[in-house]
Amino acid sequence: MLLLFDIDGTLLLKATRAHAQAVVEAVRTVYHPEERPEVKIEAAGRTDLDIARQLALLGGVGPERFDAGRDDFRAAAVEAYARLCEDDLSAHVAPGVTAMLEALAARDGVRLAVLTGNLEPIAHLKLARAGLGGFFERGQGGFGSDHEDRTELPAIARARAGGYPREQTVIIGDTPRDIACARADGLRCIAVATGPFTAAQLADADVVLESAHELLDALWAQPGRAG
Ligand SMILES: [Mg+2]
Repeated sequence: MLLLFDIDGTLLLKATRAHAQAVVEAVRTVYHPEERPEVKIEAAGRTDLDIARQLALLGGVGPERFDAGRDDFRAAAVEAYARLCEDDLSAHVAPGVTAMLEALAARDGVRLAVLTGNLEPIAHLKLARAGLGGFFERGQGGFGSDHEDRTELPAIARARAGGYPREQTVIIGDTPRDIACARADGLRCIAVATGPFTAAQLADADVVLESAHELLDALWAQPGRAG
């Protein structure tokens, strides 16, 4: 089974302050948009580049100029995050997550990877500072660096895992965008109501959980489907 975990709101809670700051700073540095402090972007579940595009467009930056600056944006956001990231994010690990990952890592036939809108270097640094880096193989998973559209990421992650079969791949995330990306690739989705959305708002998932504590049971509750 290939388990693809979202990071923010799923593995880590409220650990996005430095990240949000880095994205905003990088957009300012690269694109010099008009400042629109009254505008708030709903960032949960979006890729970093999608968030940056929304911020830039709202600040009067045209799509062509945005596209031309994307590589500079990536570099600036990664540099800013490395500078702004807290040294220790371990207090942000969601309840039950470490024990759940330890149990999964000990099982035969289970592969753990992340599927996140974070740019890849940001994701790795965030996981490392939270003490979770060791659970996830480098060179696996799907990241905001791979595609601006989250719905493209599950197929990329399955390809990296050697063309992993859809019926043995599960997305675990905390937003309707996680559910949508699972559906786009024909995958099962387990939603956890630990981020900004309630269980009712995540009802389109195959299973909705209140926390990571229930995840092991949920994965093995449906033999033949979850493996
Ligand atoms: Mg999330």
